[in-house]
Amino acid sequence: MTDPIAFSGSRLDRAAVERRDAAWLESHRKHPASRYLPMWKLDPLVKLGEKRSLAWARWELFDDVEISHEPILLGVDEGVAHFAVDVSQLQSPLDELGLEGVARFEELRAIGGEISGEEIAVVAHARSLADWHQRHRHCAVCGAISIVILGGIQRRCPDCSAEHFPRTDPVAIAPVVRGDRCLLGRGPGWPDTMYSALAGFVEPGETLEEAVRREVREESGVVIGAVRYLRSQPWPFPSSLMLGCVADAETEELEIDHTELADARWFSLEEIRLALAGEPAPLFIPPPFAIAHHLIQAWAEGRERGRRGP
Ligand SMILES: [Zn+2]
Repeated sequence: MTDPIAFSGSRLDRAAVERRDAAWLESHRKHPASRYLPMWKLDPLVKLGEKRSLAWARWELFDDVEISHEPILLGVDEGVAHFAVDVSQLQSPLDELGLEGVARFEELRAIGGEISGEEIAVVAHARSLADWHQRHRHCAVCGAISIVILGGIQRRCPDCSAEHFPRTDPVAIAPVVRGDRCLLGRGPGWPDTMYSALAGFVEPGETLEEAVRREVREESGVVIGAVRYLRSQPWPFPSSLMLGCVADAETEELEIDHTELADARWFSLEEIRLALAGEPAPLFIPPPFAIAHHLIQAWAEGRERGRRGP
């Protein structure tokens, strides 16, 4: 499998010890060597030009604008602190920051093939945290406005002292297999021939394996036996953790829940192999930046136990 998978593999050390030291944080927030990644409405600043890369800035960039969100410490690389700065309150950020013609804010999905995997991972981290801060300004216990602590990986309520942690929502995702056939589904609004692994949020009080069995049963009517965990992927839209499995079907008859899926179909191993190879096939599957691609590929290549089981 491709390693690291998309949205993971950041070089930054998340600085768990340093971020607990208020003096360290304060000095690095103003340190001339520290680097700041402006984010506008969750989109990172990217340099213009042939070779695209993130447009890290010095703090002076923000001298003439008012920043209403505290910089988020993403981590440290070779002693240099790296922060994300949410500038969403600016109406015309490129103009106000003097960046017209130099850089622009770009949606993460649009720059996936243009900037390095390590930088994509940094943006994924920054995007999930910025989204969490935007949505969780108020204490969930008493409603007061909470404050950012530990460089942005927690918030604390000044009134009731409750501490709040960034959300990461677990999602179970699994191609469903039986012998040489694989069950995949198509979500509402997807292209006609695009099929992927079935997926759904893990609910409170269930294991990953139970979540896979429940989701597949609810969406397709198929009963699942063994569930094998393969790998995971952070999914920063806004902040999920995809938990990738392969699920063994015990039944084949489909009873599709059309509120969840536009369609679900059993495909042959040959059809899946053609789709993975980019050959003419009755389906196409998600590209390699999605964990579904790797899970389906692992099954098709026989790299996970059980494909040819009874
Ligand atoms: Zn509170």
